[in-house]
Amino acid sequence: MKIRIWGARGSHPHPITPDQFRERVKSIVQRVREEDISSNENRERFLNSLPDWLWNPPGGNTPCVEVRLSDGSCLIFDAGTGIIPLSQRMRSQEPGIQDFHLFFSHFHYDHIQGLPFFSQAYNPSTSIHFYSPEPDVEYNLKDHMQHPFFPVTMEEKMTGKQHFHVLRSDHRGNRAIELNGAKVEWHDINHPGNAYAYRITEGDASVIIATDYELSDSDFAKQSRHGTFFANPDVLILDTMYTLGEAIEKFNWGHSSFSIGVDFAHAWGVKTLLMFHHEPQYSDKRLYNNLRHARWYAERQNYPDLDIRLAQEGMEIDIP
Ligand SMILES: [Zn+2]
Ligand SMILES: [Zn+2]
Repeated sequence: MKIRIWGARGSHPHPITPDQFRERVKSIVQRVREEDISSNENRERFLNSLPDWLWNPPGGNTPCVEVRLSDGSCLIFDAGTGIIPLSQRMRSQEPGIQDFHLFFSHFHYDHIQGLPFFSQAYNPSTSIHFYSPEPDVEYNLKDHMQHPFFPVTMEEKMTGKQHFHVLRSDHRGNRAIELNGAKVEWHDINHPGNAYAYRITEGDASVIIATDYELSDSDFAKQSRHGTFFANPDVLILDTMYTLGEAIEKFNWGHSSFSIGVDFAHAWGVKTLLMFHHEPQYSDKRLYNNLRHARWYAERQNYPDLDIRLAQEGMEIDIP
């Protein structure tokens, strides 16, 4: 299984402004010594030695995560603006892929606003499967793509075959579907208007995508409503939008702090925690500071086995 991050910002896109761009170039130029530009090799070495906030920015697109199964099946979680570069890359590098499986955590703008620009949906030879536990999935998606909000509608112009799947539990109450050899489970998480986390398991590999999630004490209890949904995944992609102070200030806004996220990941035996749904008001430097603080906090709490990373566009994680 392979995971690719295409958009990791929350709430709204965060394009770099001209001032920020100039500041960034200035910060880089100030660090250059003569020998750093004396050869191509030195230049590469210099660039790769820059702090991550300067050379590996997390990017400004809103949530979109691709999960590739071992047979190449393409599962996409949320259609924030990150789905636009995904779509462009697929068109140029993998034009043969014709089946797409799009799962939605919920329908807030930042999670659907890239869908009108998903060019594969306008190709009659593709099949797009849309999934959500919300009975209104079809209505919600079609409703935001019509005049006066957008010039073309899903019905008239999106000529790819559309299949809408309302995810429902089976007669035993299991909330899971089988998809091309993998299992996809879903689970309610606390967010205004409700949102859903997804867990994808293929063989021994598993990833959970839990974005737009305000954690509370009850989420840590092993005998809670969560059952085994959060137990021992290889990767947990989690809403860690705020600092603790801000999360307290923004109680009930539907997002979590990175420190409670670290505790949560440890409590459920997560191997790798990917900090996700970055606050758009935070600079890249601040996001990397938050990562440092999250790692420091994990060390202080004595969670030595927890690997913590910041989700950034272009990041790929292979789970064997
Ligand atoms: Zn969001
Ligand atoms: Zn939301």
